[in-house]
Amino acid sequence: MPAALDLHHRPLRNLRLSVTDRCNLRCGYCMPEERYEWLQRADLLTFEESSALVAELIPHGVEKVRLTGGEPLLRRDIDQLVRSLRAHAGLRELALTTNGLRLPEHAKELRGAGLDRLTVSLDTLRADRFKELTRRDELAGALRGLDAAASAGFTGTKLNVVVMRGTNDDELLDMLDFARERALEVRFIEYMDVGGATRWDMSRVVPATEIIELIGAARGGATPEDLERTAAPADRYRTADGQRFGVIASTTRPFCGSCDRARLTADGQFITCLYARRGTPIAKVLRARGSRAAAEQIVDLWTGRSDRGAEERAGLTTREALAQPGELQQEPHLEMHTRGG
Ligand code: SAM
Ligand code: SF4
Ligand code: SF4
Repeated sequence: MPAALDLHHRPLRNLRLSVTDRCNLRCGYCMPEERYEWLQRADLLTFEESSALVAELIPHGVEKVRLTGGEPLLRRDIDQLVRSLRAHAGLRELALTTNGLRLPEHAKELRGAGLDRLTVSLDTLRADRFKELTRRDELAGALRGLDAAASAGFTGTKLNVVVMRGTNDDELLDMLDFARERALEVRFIEYMDVGGATRWDMSRVVPATEIIELIGAARGGATPEDLERTAAPADRYRTADGQRFGVIASTTRPFCGSCDRARLTADGQFITCLYARRGTPIAKVLRARGSRAAAEQIVDLWTGRSDRGAEERAGLTTREALAQPGELQQEPHLEMHTRGG
């Protein structure tokens, strides 16, 4: 069966499955507040429900699943979900995005359960800065997590770095060196004005062009690798000394035109765009009428999709954070840590 297409002919290929809205860090660009409204635990989809739904979505085009959150490794027995998803024929890639803190306990079992790939988010290599940025003194734990991933046999691990002016933009070259030493592919991400980023300000965004110029100037040039834009969010470059890195220009040069990503929150809200004001609860249908009916509902929502959230925001004359704390407390599904990155 061909993939479901939305109104801009974008196929449904990629599902980001958030498994929890909880987190053990408080990154300033994602969870800067003191208080949050959490999803009710009783509302969370069970692993059986999520896995059965994915099985029904594969014939409609889904071929990649990324587990995310919040911090996905806070969800108990997450390896069981990995094992169950991995058993679905037709799933080409199963990945997970994590802050790495719990990898020392989980990397081996995740690998054993069949997880293909990890993305680890780490924005600084300085302990004091890590503490300031995440409100937790855990740099050493994150580094142990990266060690554990490598020992468990994960290769091709990606390192996500959100670049913020005046915060960590003096560490780009250190991050490149660190990634090279550890055989990681670093991706520099522009700071986005998504839900959760209530302190966002355009002056703190370091545009991708500036990142590339800076790296190119220090490393004898940075040459684009993929001439054609693919559905992957990162544009890849190679330095003159052969190191590949990615840049995700979500704020200044959005890639909505090729966006094949759908999101499902841990309590079963289907979200067609990171910037969408609302999602559609599908848990009710899933529970009352089963996973096939829920998948059909998702396909219907996808075929009616016209979202180009980041492009629309790039066209605004004045641009502020997507939502204020009060609105996020009223509607936690707007939060990045609920939708998954
Ligand atoms: N907790 C996990 C982690 O941090 O890797 C997974 C969830 S987190 C929401 C997923 C990704 O979103 C992370 O790489 C994080 O850096 C990114 N992210 C969160 N808020 C962001 C923002 N305002 N701008 C850019 N990236 C952001
Ligand atoms: Fe940071 Fe990820 Fe937690 Fe957000 S969900 S606070 S990005 S570790
Ligand atoms: Fe896709 Fe929306 Fe992000 Fe654009 S803003 S790339 S449509 S999720």
